[in-house]
Amino acid sequence: MVKEYGVYEVVLKQLEAAADALKLAPQTKELLAEPVRNFKVAIPVKMDDGSVKVFKGFRCQHNDALGPTKGGVRFHPQVDEDEVKALAAWMTFKCALVGIPYGGAKGGILCNPKELSNSELERLSRGFIAAISPIIGPEKDIPAPDVYTNPQVMSWFMDEFSRLKGFNSPGVVTGKPLIVGGSAGRDSATARGVMFTTREACILMKLDLKEARVVVQGYGNAGFYSAKFLHELGGKVIAVNDSSGGAFNPEGMDPLALLDYKHSNGSVKGFPGSVNIVNDDLLSLECEILVPAALENQITADNAGDIRAKLIAEAANGPTTPEADQILFEKGVMIIPDILANAGGVTVSYFEWVQNLSNYYWTAEEVDTKLERIMVEAFRNVYSTSIEGKVNMRVAAYMVAVNKLAEAMKVRGWI
Ligand code: GLU
Repeated sequence: MVKEYGVYEVVLKQLEAAADALKLAPQTKELLAEPVRNFKVAIPVKMDDGSVKVFKGFRCQHNDALGPTKGGVRFHPQVDEDEVKALAAWMTFKCALVGIPYGGAKGGILCNPKELSNSELERLSRGFIAAISPIIGPEKDIPAPDVYTNPQVMSWFMDEFSRLKGFNSPGVVTGKPLIVGGSAGRDSATARGVMFTTREACILMKLDLKEARVVVQGYGNAGFYSAKFLHELGGKVIAVNDSSGGAFNPEGMDPLALLDYKHSNGSVKGFPGSVNIVNDDLLSLECEILVPAALENQITADNAGDIRAKLIAEAANGPTTPEADQILFEKGVMIIPDILANAGGVTVSYFEWVQNLSNYYWTAEEVDTKLERIMVEAFRNVYSTSIEGKVNMRVAAYMVAVNKLAEAMKVRGWI
């Protein structure tokens, strides 16, 4: 029988596997198994028709042993406390893994942004920041974009916080538009990290990217840019989808044309020259590289057996359940786990914050070179840990991250 997981349960299982492999002290595991702070807020918003609607918001700060907490805010009709807690923990492990001086946090607002006008979205964004303003700040906790939030929302976040403080505080939020202190390269950073780590994995696996068929689940920021960068390296993008449907063309499709089509039609479904494909069929297509770039729990014990990709690069957070992980490991499918594959986003967020704090801005080339170095080094570190420890890439990534967290908590005198 297939077991359904809550997302936080997935985090606990992943932590458990690394703790076992590292023979971690029970107190260290106990501390990492719970967020240090977890907030729930109610946000009253004046709607365009004059009514008032109350929205639920969450901000979870999972662990701050390595620095101020960091992580995105998602606007989604299904977001809940359990999901935000899991995403916050993944941020802790992600930042530790790539070696940037942050702990992990995540936020969410329960809403459907597609049903809100621009001014309602602005009032909601400002209301959320006002509600969590006592617990965020450049030295405390730094929000960023995530699912269905973007540079405009970050700009409202930053502006509201600055208004409350009475001075400009660009370092409170990352992922801002360039004109108000954003960083060159932040928009495409998650996918550049996916591309760098995929490229490294392909070299190891002797997979020629020029021959590679690429399938992308989800066509938001991470999905689109991943398709674009892998296409630029010669990959053939044979299928992509979004929440409304999918497009499949074995001859390959142009990622930019797909994005234009999605902008005009609301979905990639119906893209000229393609046939429609449902999500289950997309995941089980024969291909070299599968990029899950949507939500959690997409590759499960139910469908892992059908997957025919050779390499999975997790642009999304938490797309694979522990049971699916095991099935794929036994099948010999290589996985670049989320906390490694998609760490490019928070890494360039870190660069943005550093630029904000020092008031000195870098070129796109500087950002890109520094990002590549961090991503390639993290990939090699995880890969060698997996070989030495005879564990899969996810367990190896957690081992690297948990080791650093354990050391920090020890020298800080927490355990
Ligand atoms: N939301 C992104 C993530 O899950 C980026 C977080 C950040 O830049 O702080 O990694």
